[in-house]
Amino acid sequence: MTNKQTNKQTNKPTNKPKTTKLLKREDITDAARALRDGELVAFPTETVYGLGAVISNEKAVKGVYAAKGRPSDNPLIMTVSDLEMAKRYLEPLSHRAEKLIKAFWPGSLTLVCDVIPGTVSDSVTSGRSTVAVRFPDDPLTTTLIKEVGEPIVGPSANTSGKPSPTTAEHVMHDLHGKIYGVLDGGTTNVGIESTIVDVSSGSPFAILRPGNVTREMIEAVAGPLDELSVDPAAAPKAPGMKYRHYSPTKPVFTIDERVNEWQNAISLTDDRTALAVPDSLLKSLAPSVADSDRVIYQLGATTQNWQHRLYDVLRDIDDQPTIDQLLIYLPVDNPANEGYRNRLMKAAHGPFVKD
Ligand code: AMP
Ligand code: MG
Repeated sequence: MTNKQTNKQTNKPTNKPKTTKLLKREDITDAARALRDGELVAFPTETVYGLGAVISNEKAVKGVYAAKGRPSDNPLIMTVSDLEMAKRYLEPLSHRAEKLIKAFWPGSLTLVCDVIPGTVSDSVTSGRSTVAVRFPDDPLTTTLIKEVGEPIVGPSANTSGKPSPTTAEHVMHDLHGKIYGVLDGGTTNVGIESTIVDVSSGSPFAILRPGNVTREMIEAVAGPLDELSVDPAAAPKAPGMKYRHYSPTKPVFTIDERVNEWQNAISLTDDRTALAVPDSLLKSLAPSVADSDRVIYQLGATTQNWQHRLYDVLRDIDDQPTIDQLLIYLPVDNPANEGYRNRLMKAAHGPFVKD
């Protein structure tokens, strides 16, 4: 794979590239130039990889929808490299928004804000009066955006409906040949998408998508969230949440923390059923799986570990010919587990039930 870019290509029209480049730190200038020329470049963030296009290039933004196969009514996040860049596009922020920004930016909190009319195209906002903004905590990507000089859109860099990418290889798997390049920042840290909070005027102050920045953390900084009068699952305010997301092709079933439920499920399934369990559970289950050839994914010890591993496991089962289905750990419902549970329940068919 070549990483160096010759000047010969600079003035070429933006034909669809045949080979997607794996770009490294030293290729940031090339990546920035490609973005300014209207190409699509995927980039690392601390949550998942994003698919970038400059926000002012309508054709490039439409290309993002096409490359992902994303429904056009699902707006895109605007990704910035500092607060000043964001403010060029936003109506004055509420006191609450300022507090959240001070506490969590750069970081995995996306804010839905009122947009200054005419500054962001309808294809980014899907015609809304708001825009979702994020300042990721990733020095490679903030350097890239600074070099570009304007925000880039940043939906997850996966085929729509599939689990989001947490490595450059995941991006290549889904988008190779469809985009100019992937800036390789290694494995992402958080592993699930950002928390989205609505701070726009006239809307309830609410979490539209749970994530690593939890309800408790948000309320500690900005006061209580509003009670929603409608069930957010029935009428999602983040349009993307209404689509089935994050799902592998193979079936996924959940089991809670009870060891006897796992032992039972193990006795009812064969070696083609893979398991994904936290370290503590694996210890208890070791005797039950000692003689089996099952694939066992070790999720780690903490919620952060499970989140970090989740999408890699969900993607891997589809690539393993020896696996038919997955049984995966669903932790108890508490504020710290909300993001992990939300993504897992969207990926899974439901709890494992013996029939
Ligand atoms: P993704 O692009 O797949 O990482 O997810 C971005 C999420 O942000 C999707 O669920 C979008 O529907 C949501 N989103 C983007 N812009 C807005 C907005 N202006 N208002 C509400 N939700 C938004
Ligand atoms: Mg996505």
